[in-house]
Amino acid sequence: MCCSHLLFLSALIEEDKISRLETFLSECSDRPALVITVSRVATTIDISPQVASKVLQELAKKDILTTKYALRCPECGTLLKRYNGLNEVECVGNICYKCNEKFDVSPEEIEIFYTINDGYFFREGQHEKEVDYSVSAAHENSLKFLIESGGINTLLFNPNDSEYTILRSLFSDVFNHQTTTKAKGDTLERLVAYLFGLCEAFKAGEIRTSTNQIDCFVANDFFCNLGIFGQIGPRIIIECKNEEKTPKVDYIEKLGSIISLANAGGQANYVRLGIIVSKAKPPRTYKSLANRFYLSNKIVIISLCKEDLSELVEKKKNLLEMIERKMTEVVMETTTDLRRNGIYNA
Ligand SMILES: [Zn+2]
Repeated sequence: MCCSHLLFLSALIEEDKISRLETFLSECSDRPALVITVSRVATTIDISPQVASKVLQELAKKDILTTKYALRCPECGTLLKRYNGLNEVECVGNICYKCNEKFDVSPEEIEIFYTINDGYFFREGQHEKEVDYSVSAAHENSLKFLIESGGINTLLFNPNDSEYTILRSLFSDVFNHQTTTKAKGDTLERLVAYLFGLCEAFKAGEIRTSTNQIDCFVANDFFCNLGIFGQIGPRIIIECKNEEKTPKVDYIEKLGSIISLANAGGQANYVRLGIIVSKAKPPRTYKSLANRFYLSNKIVIISLCKEDLSELVEKKKNLLEMIERKMTEVVMETTTDLRRNGIYNA
């Protein structure tokens, strides 16, 4: 008989495999030295590494496991550092204490591990200090494998149930409650800062400069520039529009000029993405204006409205995938719906 609390995995694996996984996790809980990795789960319960990777991410999403990372020397294979989040990874200037190899980090050297959170499986829990991370290198445990199997957006934006509860409540504060105009403005900004802060690579908050107030300033500290992270650049500037009516068409120029200032009139490449978050839908001319702005300034300005926020909050769509799709729409000035033809899910 299958234990009930892993049944949410039945969309990914069959019931007998769920039950084998359960036994495996229970053993890991008793013997913390058994590190949980994609390769170990794939071998133990006889599934492909791709599926094992998805299963482990689902368990992390449900707060049963925590995702951890470690850096392996590309030359001698020694595990050198551990990280709690990918935003802690320093890209350049690493030196192996064992073989003196100097190297810059690439996703091949980052290993992904999982630990069991206290309170799950079923006894006293897996004690962090006893975990032995010195498992042998396997490509399917690397960040590179995860990126290749299309999992980077889900790895870095994977809110858990309690974070979704907070998101839904912030969303409802913006759209369902009657408050004063000022309070309404603050709540949209709060929702946006919280949403972007949920991406492991980002830090988000309001900042003031000598000339402007920036509703939400996002620092992208992800060490590698694969997938969407190659396109968005080090910083994102977000403007929040609280009006119930369609935003005015000059809003692209306005945000564009703030970004141009930050980029020292095109001499720097500090901000490559601007986002306008509005309650109402963008004007119909938005995409062609944004495209024109991109062609002359190499800055992409995308738009998120209530409908998009609802997809992210209620339907749990992936924020990074949505940003990627919207950037593609502006850069290519697409007339096709990129979700309908299956290129993007969000
Ligand atoms: Zn080494």
